[in-house]
Amino acid sequence: MMNLDPRSIILLSGLMALVMSMVLFSLRRNYPSSIRGLTEWALAPLLIFVSTLLFGARGAISDLLSIVAANLILLAGLVLLYFGSQRFFDQPKSTRLWGTLIFAAAAFMVWTYVEPHYGHRVLMMAFLMSLLSFSHLRLLLSRGARGFATYLTVAALLIQTVAQAYRFFEAFSAPADDALLLLSLSQTVVVTTYAVCILMVTIGTVLMATDRLRTEFEHLASHDSLTGALTRRAMIEACEQELERTKRRPRVMALLMMDMDHFKAVNDAYGHPGGDRVLRGFAARVTALLRRPDRFGRFGGEEFVALLPETSLEEAELVAERIRAETERGEPGLPACTVSIGVAGSRSDDATLDSMLARADTALYQAKADGRNCVRTQN
Ligand code: GH3
Ligand code: MG
Ligand code: MG
Repeated sequence: MMNLDPRSIILLSGLMALVMSMVLFSLRRNYPSSIRGLTEWALAPLLIFVSTLLFGARGAISDLLSIVAANLILLAGLVLLYFGSQRFFDQPKSTRLWGTLIFAAAAFMVWTYVEPHYGHRVLMMAFLMSLLSFSHLRLLLSRGARGFATYLTVAALLIQTVAQAYRFFEAFSAPADDALLLLSLSQTVVVTTYAVCILMVTIGTVLMATDRLRTEFEHLASHDSLTGALTRRAMIEACEQELERTKRRPRVMALLMMDMDHFKAVNDAYGHPGGDRVLRGFAARVTALLRRPDRFGRFGGEEFVALLPETSLEEAELVAERIRAETERGEPGLPACTVSIGVAGSRSDDATLDSMLARADTALYQAKADGRNCVRTQN
């Protein structure tokens, strides 16, 4: 441990920050703009890298650069890291608070430059770094995010908060002379902790952004872009899983198959965009009428399916009737349109989903034949 001098650790951590900055800049270029905060996250380690160069050059360059500028750039980098997380989680950036604190820190730094006192400087830096890590930590915890990426970042921020708080209390007895590059054990521990934490947090941000991208892709793959309903494939998967469940322990499920009536006429009268608005409005209304465990999917064109787990045929008919009536009532400003619904309940001899879907389809066909805007059932 004693072989590791603080200057080497600082420079090494700067190089790691530079690499992480490059990784984050490449994510920023390639990831969709819906993943926010990447600009701040990429700039932050770059500033940290610059600060480490200045810290490392202590003695070789002016103290104004290696002390005042280095500390302020480091602080700005850490604040940007925090701002990146605030943007990532769609939280308002606390620009005013941290702008004021950095301004106050700058004034304090200049004062410790005129009246050099190492202890005073550490006191302020450790206080701000601990406060910043703690605020960042609180933000992540308040978002309730789960998974390795968040745990890694939270762990790093927690360690950093504690390490800087320790450094803060230790600084009360710190000497007036500069001791950053002294080979003391506690100094080495604090600097190493800082270097590892910066690496952990920046890796954490990369992983969080990647997790977010995966979630967005999964959503795109399983949801219809026009109505937000599940895609046909995702819906069939959900229905098959539920059918399996009904077999394992005796319980029932129901399917509603819905088809808009004379939808061609709606398109003819209001144009395709008008028809699209009807489909979106219908999907929103049905989703609002369904319960939490129910699933709703678009099977194609103007045809939708709802899966109602643990629902008897009679209950499902009531739900279908409610959807039909709500659709008939319509919405002000939206073209009028009705819906026909076929209802099917699960049977103990349902070997596959297909037989159930076929019954719902037959029921829908009957509803169409019976004049549309009605509910029919097949058991
Ligand atoms: P029916 O009462 O027998 O169901 O009559 P219909 O006119 O609804 O019959 P059909 O199923 O043959 O026509 C469906 C129409 O839905 C045809 C197609 O242009 C329209 N459609 C399918 N997908 C979309 C879409 O995404 N947006 C719009 N606006 N129209 C669509
Ligand atoms: Mg139709
Ligand atoms: Mg149709």
